[in-house]
Amino acid sequence: MRKKSLTFAVKTLCVNSATMGLELVLKWFGIGHGDEVIIPAYTYCATGNVVLRCEARPVFADINSGDFLINVNEIANKITRKTKVILPVDFAGLPCDYDEVNSLIRTKEIMKKFTPNTKNQADLGRILLLSDAAHSFGATYKGKKTGTLADITVFSFHAVKNLTTAEGGAIALNLPDPFNNYEVYNYLGVYALHGQTKDALVKSIEGGWKYDVIVPGMKANMTDILAAMGLVEIDRYEKDTLKKLEWVFKRYDSLFSHFPWAELPVYRSDNKSSSYHIYPLRIKDITESQRDEIIDKCHKDGIMVNVHFQPLPMFTAYAGTGFKLKDVPVSYEAYKREISLPVFYDISEKQIKAVATSVAHAVHTVIEQCA
Ligand SMILES: *Cc1c(COP(=O)(O)O)cnc(C)c1O
Repeated sequence: MRKKSLTFAVKTLCVNSATMGLELVLKWFGIGHGDEVIIPAYTYCATGNVVLRCEARPVFADINSGDFLINVNEIANKITRKTKVILPVDFAGLPCDYDEVNSLIRTKEIMKKFTPNTKNQADLGRILLLSDAAHSFGATYKGKKTGTLADITVFSFHAVKNLTTAEGGAIALNLPDPFNNYEVYNYLGVYALHGQTKDALVKSIEGGWKYDVIVPGMKANMTDILAAMGLVEIDRYEKDTLKKLEWVFKRYDSLFSHFPWAELPVYRSDNKSSSYHIYPLRIKDITESQRDEIIDKCHKDGIMVNVHFQPLPMFTAYAGTGFKLKDVPVSYEAYKREISLPVFYDISEKQIKAVATSVAHAVHTVIEQCA
């Protein structure tokens, strides 16, 4: 039964952010000093910070130049005996190449390398596939929704994400045998609330005050108030939110496609559809400082374009990982020409046109300066 019903995760736990959700899963899997977690260099700092906070080493894989997603050959080349988790990111809302990653971690050679240090690692017997789906709630891959594509998937409901509860996240569980996803769900729920065997409500029931603390857990539970927001958002998500965001992407496509300097993002293919979270426009043949100049000009027009993302090896906190920007050249090349256009539910046709006018004007000015 469970293997057939792939439209839904077996069990999903809501938490107070994707960051805490990812950290909770890494702790549950026993990730610590000496372990390696493979992540894309091109991601938000949360993906790497959780690995560092577990005292493990983030190992950076470069991305595909076309779609910004983690490159599967890069993953294969970076796997060592210390690799415990692969943590890909569905950048901008487009799912990664899950079939390829799923078969990679199940190949004999790679399974032989796997060296478990904890019971959960031994029970799995191979590298854990943990998906950072902070961007991709509602996206599909080969007809299946994100949340069902990896062993464990973590979503974000932060204020800037497609579906928001102001702050929030969720952990979707699809662990194989011998794991019981219901038991893991219960354990993570306890871990997310100080490791207490009872929550405040149960404790307040007559005669129920005594409880145990089974692990020094985290404070990562989703509050009821935020969950109530999520229930409203989820009801309108597919038919309303996603449709509107798709419309925004298509409007940008049509306004930029005739410019020879515009490299439009990939957000759809034969077997993938995006959740339309980020519209990462790239400008052909420009330098990083020209890109920065274009952004400054747009900001002067009141157009709040942005960059997603600065590759993690650029940051001070990642200096100790042993990776430099030159180790991930495709990420740098994507970053230096990237400008994320504003995408949000309420954006109007007039605002979209104002964005396109401002960006095009800025690009033309900057390109002419050096011509
Ligand atoms: C936003 C984001 C996160 C963190 O989400 P929070 O809910 O804010 O913790 C993690 N990964 C990526 C790629 C993100 O963009």
